[in-house]
Amino acid sequence: MADLGRAENTIALLQRHTEFRFQKKFGQNFLIDSHVLDRIAAAAELTEEDAVLEIGPGIGTLTQHLAERAGKVLAVEIDRTLIPILEESLADYDNVEILQGDILEQNLDELAEKLGGRPMKVVANLPYYITTPILMTLLESKLPIVSITVMVQREVAERMQASPGGKDYGALSLAVQYYAAAEIVANVPPHCFLPRPKVGSAVICLKKYREKPVQAENEALLFRIIRASFNQRRKTLVNGLKNAGFAKDKITAALQALELPETVRGETLSLAQFAALSAALQA
Ligand code: SAM
Repeated sequence: MADLGRAENTIALLQRHTEFRFQKKFGQNFLIDSHVLDRIAAAAELTEEDAVLEIGPGIGTLTQHLAERAGKVLAVEIDRTLIPILEESLADYDNVEILQGDILEQNLDELAEKLGGRPMKVVANLPYYITTPILMTLLESKLPIVSITVMVQREVAERMQASPGGKDYGALSLAVQYYAAAEIVANVPPHCFLPRPKVGSAVICLKKYREKPVQAENEALLFRIIRASFNQRRKTLVNGLKNAGFAKDKITAALQALELPETVRGETLSLAQFAALSAALQA
C-alpha cells in the first residue's frame, strides 16, 4: 500500500472512493506528513507487546504506522463511508481491527477486552470537538491505560501542560495532571493536514501515573474547589470559594492552615496545594 503520509497518495485514494466526502462536523483533517506520523508513533513508544486503541483512523494513515510497530490495533471510526477505504488501506495488516461507531458511545471495558485486557496505549489524531470529553473519560476510567498520545489543538495542549502562575494554567491543567504527566512532543502546523485546519496543532503525550501525585480523600470536593477557583479568573480564591457556597470562616481558617494570604488567587496554587486546601475545607 502506498505511503499515505504523502499528499498525492492520499488524494489518489480519495479520488478512487467517491462515496467519501469530507465532513466538517467530524473534524476530518487527515495527516499528510510522514515526519509527523513517525513522531507520533515514536512518542507512543510502541513495541510488539503493545495493544493500541486508535480514535478516528480516517483513511488509515496513522493506523498503518501504529500497526507496523504494535502487537494489536483497535481503531474506532464514526464515519461509515470511510470503512471501505480503511479495508483497502489496511488490507496488508492482520493485527488491525476496525470498529464503526462513535467513541463517546462505546463501552470502553468491552474495547479493552477486545485488546485482550492487556495494558493499553491510546494514540490518535483526535477530532478536536471531542478532545476534552474523551480525554477526561479515558483518564478517569479504570481501564489499563499506560499512555495517551494525541494530536490536539495547540492551545489545548498548552493548557494541559501548563504550570501554576502561567496564563494557560487552569482547571484542565489540574484535571489532566492529577492523572498523568503531560508533555508536548511536537508542534504541528496546518500544512501537515488535508484539509488544513484554521488553528495550529500539537502532539501531547500523557503518561498515566501508577500512583496519583497527590492524595485526595474526596476527589469530587477537590475538583469542585478547582472549578470554583478558576470560574472567576480575576477574583481572589476567597471570592471564588464563597460563590461556590463555602463559608467565609471555613475558607479563612483553611488558608491560615496552609499559610496562604487572603488575597491569593487560584491560578497560583499547585495541585498539591489544592489537595491540601480540599483536606482543610473538608475538616
Ligand atoms: N487518523 C486520521 C489521520 O490522522 O489522518 C484521521 C484523523 S481526523 C482529525 C479525525 C477522525 O476521527 C476522522 O476520521 C473522523 O471521521 C473521526 N471521528 C470524528 N468523530 C468521531 C467519534 N465521535 N468517534 C470516532 N471517530 C470519530
